[in-house]
Amino acid sequence: MRLVILGGPGSGKSTQARQLCRHLGIVEISSGNILRRAIASQTDLGRKAQPYVEKGELVPDEILIEFMRQRLLQPDTAKGWVLEGYPRTAFQAEELDFLLEELNQQLDWAIYLTVPESVMMTRSVERSQNYAKDSTTSAKSRLDDHPEIVPRRIELFYERTVPILEYYDYRQKLLTINGDQPPEQVQPNILHKLALDN
Ligand code: AMP
Repeated sequence: MRLVILGGPGSGKSTQARQLCRHLGIVEISSGNILRRAIASQTDLGRKAQPYVEKGELVPDEILIEFMRQRLLQPDTAKGWVLEGYPRTAFQAEELDFLLEELNQQLDWAIYLTVPESVMMTRSVERSQNYAKDSTTSAKSRLDDHPEIVPRRIELFYERTVPILEYYDYRQKLLTINGDQPPEQVQPNILHKLALDN
């Protein structure tokens, strides 16, 4: 199964992606986690991405597309994957399709977790406050969850990511799920729509 999870900041994408991967025994590929790790270890990708991630801006398409292309060619992707946080722009979505075509593969579904903007805001700010309370190194590396940049991340979601919904809807690949409920209620809804709950 090859899935994409779409949603704004605080929509529950990463929680749902993790659970789906566990359920389906496939690999989770999170662009945000990849970038945060790359920044923490100051790899070439990390150094290029850092100024954007810190401001809540999107990392330029050409940097990320090439990286994700390489990632999707790794052997652990053979059984399928859940992409979380990628694609996030129309250009990334098209490039993903080109790559899949080249590999003779197909995306099964793009799952869109809808939550009202006010929920994105409160969940993201709460998360940043929790990180601030937690003094472990990994928590400190969430540079991108500072409350000041949350509105910009939400704005970019509407500007750059929402247009992708139409792209997948047109291709009859879009599954819309209400993300404004506790995570343990969202997961069964996703499995039900994927017809995997029997
Ligand atoms: P996330 O954890 O998915 O919200 O990603 C954290 C940050 O990484 C974002 O605010 C962006 O700066 C960057 N990022 C993650 N995925 C992408 C993407 N697909 N395209 C551009 N930038 C991204």
